[in-house]
Amino acid sequence: MTDFTATRALFDLPEGLAYLDGNSLGPLARSVPDRVARAVREEWGRQLIRAWNDAGWMEMPDRLGDRIAPLIGAPAGTVTTGDTLSIKLHQALSAALTMTDRPVILSDTGNFPSDLYIADAVARQAGGELRTVAPEAVAAALSEEIGVLMLTEVDYRTGRLHDMVALTARAKSLGIATVWDLAHSAGALPVDVAGAGADFAVGCSYKYLNGGPGAPAFVYAAPDVAGRIDPSMPGWLGHAAPFAFEPGYRPARDVARFRVGTPPVLQMAALDAALDVWDVADIVDVRARSLDLSERLIAGVEAACPDLALASPRDGSARGSQVSFSHPEAYPIMQALIARGVIGDFRAPDILRFGLTPLYLGEAEIDTCIATLAEVMDRRLWDDPAYRQRQAVT
Ligand SMILES: *Cc1c(COP(=O)(O)O)cnc(C)c1O
Repeated sequence: MTDFTATRALFDLPEGLAYLDGNSLGPLARSVPDRVARAVREEWGRQLIRAWNDAGWMEMPDRLGDRIAPLIGAPAGTVTTGDTLSIKLHQALSAALTMTDRPVILSDTGNFPSDLYIADAVARQAGGELRTVAPEAVAAALSEEIGVLMLTEVDYRTGRLHDMVALTARAKSLGIATVWDLAHSAGALPVDVAGAGADFAVGCSYKYLNGGPGAPAFVYAAPDVAGRIDPSMPGWLGHAAPFAFEPGYRPARDVARFRVGTPPVLQMAALDAALDVWDVADIVDVRARSLDLSERLIAGVEAACPDLALASPRDGSARGSQVSFSHPEAYPIMQALIARGVIGDFRAPDILRFGLTPLYLGEAEIDTCIATLAEVMDRRLWDDPAYRQRQAVT
């Protein structure tokens, strides 16, 4: 059983803050600053170029992939890290499209815009198109016209959870390749990419994996497809022998061919330290506690704030690790909440979003959130021009 008092002690959170936005940017693990300082001072500062070999910099993308793999049900050697999620998604979709003669990607209308922009572009470049349907209509829209199914398992706005096992199985039976975006799944709930039979999966490490702003993304390729990938971005570090400097591209083994260029070593040092929490935390326990905390938040807000409408599935098994409420004045309401030390976020057009992250969050923060939200609503504290000023990041 995971000791959540112990995991919380591993994070450096400001006193007096209820942080319910770890689904957007995970907090700082206490081990990160020293690990990054060591990478800067000792590895870069003293070892200089030798650190690529002596400090293991060159293996970092794959070593970190192996650390993330158990959290998503991937075998060792099937996950690598680097770049950003948008780039890894582009690579995975391009690879998936080369495995079908049907250049049609199916996704849902609730998917994250970056995912849809990229899917639309790669499908058109392959001579086909992106089709989107409502999230509930995905299963029925799978047909032999579709080549690739690309879904984000947990909806970033509502937290709605797709049935990854059932949808992947149905896609497979129709010869459709699958690309799953685990941005709001990895570190939030158990995922079994291998068990589900997914072909590709991608995700970011700055949300529930706490890797820090700009932390590298991860990409999974199933063992049976990895060796067939003809990478759309055949960079030198995805070559079988980068330092042979051959004029022609020869792909690296398996998923390593999704590596592109020089890894962001300092970001990777931060992620490496942040992942240590998973040595003492079990994702099954995290999921159970996240559901308990979510129920507490939903019950409390519904009792205290009748004007807020639950925008997430009520059934916990159909929800990721976030709870959202809608209100026409969601933006100023969230600003008023943040000004009072309760941090969630706003998603256009009308969503108040709260991330439940048991590694460092408990009943006390949930109760503070409910009480503060109730006060903001009851006393219309949000109705202040200062809270209507839209900032670049919401
Ligand atoms: C967070 C998120 C992204 C962000 O992509 P980056 O390239 O890391 O900026 C993309 N897709 C989904 C579904 C996300 O939740």
